[in-house]
Amino acid sequence: MYKTKAYSAASATSPLASDKINRRDPSERDVQIEILFCGVCHSDLHQARNEWQSAIPTTYPCVPGHEIVGRVTKIGSAVTKYKPGDLAAVGCLVDSDGTCPQCKLDHEQFCPNATFTYNAPDKHLGGVTYGGYSDSIVVNERFVLRVPANLDLAGAAPLLCAGITTYSPMRHWGVGKGKKVGVVGLGGLGHMGVKFAHAFGAHTVVFTTSPNKKEDALRLGADEVVISRNADEMRKHAGSFDFILDAVSAHHDINAYINLLRPDGTVTLVGAPEQPMPVSAFSLLMGRRSLSGSLIGGIAETQEMLDFCGQHNITSDVEVIPIQKINEAYDRLLKSDVKYRFCIDMASLKAE
Ligand code: NAP
Ligand code: ZN
Repeated sequence: MYKTKAYSAASATSPLASDKINRRDPSERDVQIEILFCGVCHSDLHQARNEWQSAIPTTYPCVPGHEIVGRVTKIGSAVTKYKPGDLAAVGCLVDSDGTCPQCKLDHEQFCPNATFTYNAPDKHLGGVTYGGYSDSIVVNERFVLRVPANLDLAGAAPLLCAGITTYSPMRHWGVGKGKKVGVVGLGGLGHMGVKFAHAFGAHTVVFTTSPNKKEDALRLGADEVVISRNADEMRKHAGSFDFILDAVSAHHDINAYINLLRPDGTVTLVGAPEQPMPVSAFSLLMGRRSLSGSLIGGIAETQEMLDFCGQHNITSDVEVIPIQKINEAYDRLLKSDVKYRFCIDMASLKAE
């Protein structure tokens, strides 16, 4: 076991602050990674502030961060896929049982014994796992990903959550040429959703509450932009969508989007607001429409997504910040003031 620097929240109401945490020494199959960049996901904020109390209560201290890229510093004796000096990435998962039906399908995210990167029971050290707002992390090589060499590292970090969370449902629901696809909420997830929908060849429509994001949405690959608070603009699209990805972090009217689906169309929720959202039966009955959800993606699909991004030169649009600005970044996330992902330059932690 060794000590490493981190930023943690001590309670739901305390700002994140400098801390020291324990990491295990790498065992046989482990890879130790010096963290270079870590993206800031709205899930970090939800959990640091215990907003998912009813589903995933937070244990403190909480060290968030599950969009990790870095360099391998040490490997266990049985590691074959990585060597010191390699670039490596870690997303939202650090372990699973490897034997259940979901693991056999490469859906480790649905394994009943999956271990999430932070705020999950740590079977090695006890307590809970600690995420990427830290100097280093130790992860079984099965959960370590390869970063394509041509990608900017800060822009690649958010692919590990925002990337896979939008890529996976779009692949699952057949987003591609000839399909009309909506993306709701132009934040970290949403802007990656727009890039993927565009890259897959779909007619892509962004729904935003922020009129000042219109130009950006078009630049990111949208064919059309709808200001979702304008009822007339919304009505024009009634009954016309094959698929809509809802990536909104706060309470909103989901029926407004279900009503935009054509028969047999699907709204997939990836956003995870704190409170339940009412669904009108008639929105679904009319046209046999579906409402579904999606959680990140499996490890093999995450690697597939990273390779796709390497081939198509896709990264996240990031605002790189020092760790000392993390609390300010959280405040800005709550105001939808992010273009379009904060990414922490972890070199800044060395000053603590
Ligand atoms: P984010 O960067 O903060 O973006 C959220 C966007 O939602 C905002 O930029 C804003 O877009 C829109 N929005 C915010 N408040 C709104 C409101 N009151 N009404 C309507 N729209 C509003 O967040 P993120 O990191 O992309 O995460 C989005 C959600 O996905 C979070 O709940 C997060 O926990 C969840 N998540 C889920 C998974 C999964 O596996 N399912 C993975 C990662 C994250 P506009 O300005 O364009 O309106
Ligand atoms: Zn995330």
